[in-house]
Amino acid sequence: MVASHVAKQMREGSSIRQIFALGQKLRREHGKERVFDLSLGNPSLEPPPSILEALSELSSPAHKGIHRYLPAQGLEKTRKFVCDQLSRRHRLVFDPNHAIISVGAAGGLNCALKAILEPGDKVIGMIPYFPEYRTYVDNHGGVFHGVESAAHFRIDLDRVASALSPNTRALIINSPNNPTGVMYSNTELRELAGVLRDAASRFGHPIYLLSDEPYAAIVFDGKNYAAPVEHYEDTIVISSYSKTLGIPGERLGFAVASPRCHDASTLAKAIAWSQVALGYVNAPAIWQHVLPMIGNSTIDISAYALNRELLRDFFESAGVEFVYPQGAFYYFPSCPVGMSDQELVSKGIDNLLLMIPGTSFGSPGHVRISYCFDTEYLQSAMKALAAAFGLH
Ligand code: PLP
Repeated sequence: MVASHVAKQMREGSSIRQIFALGQKLRREHGKERVFDLSLGNPSLEPPPSILEALSELSSPAHKGIHRYLPAQGLEKTRKFVCDQLSRRHRLVFDPNHAIISVGAAGGLNCALKAILEPGDKVIGMIPYFPEYRTYVDNHGGVFHGVESAAHFRIDLDRVASALSPNTRALIINSPNNPTGVMYSNTELRELAGVLRDAASRFGHPIYLLSDEPYAAIVFDGKNYAAPVEHYEDTIVISSYSKTLGIPGERLGFAVASPRCHDASTLAKAIAWSQVALGYVNAPAIWQHVLPMIGNSTIDISAYALNRELLRDFFESAGVEFVYPQGAFYYFPSCPVGMSDQELVSKGIDNLLLMIPGTSFGSPGHVRISYCFDTEYLQSAMKALAAAFGLH
């Protein structure tokens, strides 16, 4: 018999996976070209050619022993590569001894939460939030507490300050954000850091900032990424190459403690230990070898930039309320007046179009629309989108 808390997680858990499964069923029934799945952040762009070259090179018999177990923390060359990349992007020098190569950002988040949470500890996140946060926090005995955002999905500092309590162990921040596409500004992050610092000193224990940033390299209009780790000492940067290299199925990510974190060395050891304790053991070996071989390759985000404009034009002409995303590859528009998010999603399904209801992100009255596809695919989905939003 399935454990009751797992059954509860499954019942209440993210509808993203359920809609993913529905998309596969609809594709089987109606043919894949007739179904428009804008539900998942599953990039359709192929990884950069350098990845295929590295894989091909690594398949040579000359590379012996690369498929064995690895140290839980990850290969030193891979940790160094990740830290060099972070050090080039931020005004800090990251230390490979404080880095763990993880099984995606999801694995990094779970290991970090396992490493820091005492039973009943509170973890704060902004509403709307990535739905898996609730499950991940629950996995490790914590309690997730969502805080409403201010207008246009900005950080509401007063609400964050009121939510902080003596049992708050961490705050998860996700910028650029899934589902809103908002990137928090340096000013917002500086102010947030002040609020966290103040609470940590009042409560007499550190409060960690878990900066979940798998979209840090997907920022539009030539803007620089505003990095939480530059503003707050006790930050753990958690990220992955799922989105920026287009390899979400390969499960390659990292967790790196800030060089200014008060217990960076012990924390890194505890996160690596958690990787073993949770049975991940180590991040996939082949990908740890691939990463340092590909330099600064990333997917070309110009298709996403184009898709962002295409959808903006659609929402404007449809009179739909939305926030123009600065990064990631999602829109989180409001539902038409008088229509719930579940109704809008159902109307989409009637038109073989898949979206995620805002309720899954703690924010009813919106839907999440992903645009990480080639533009042609998105263009062919526009008719179904218009039908779902009641335009014809
Ligand atoms: N965090 C956020 C905000 C995400 O959107 C995702 C994936 O969609 C993840 C974490 C998990 O990413 P990964 O595939 O690297 O585990």
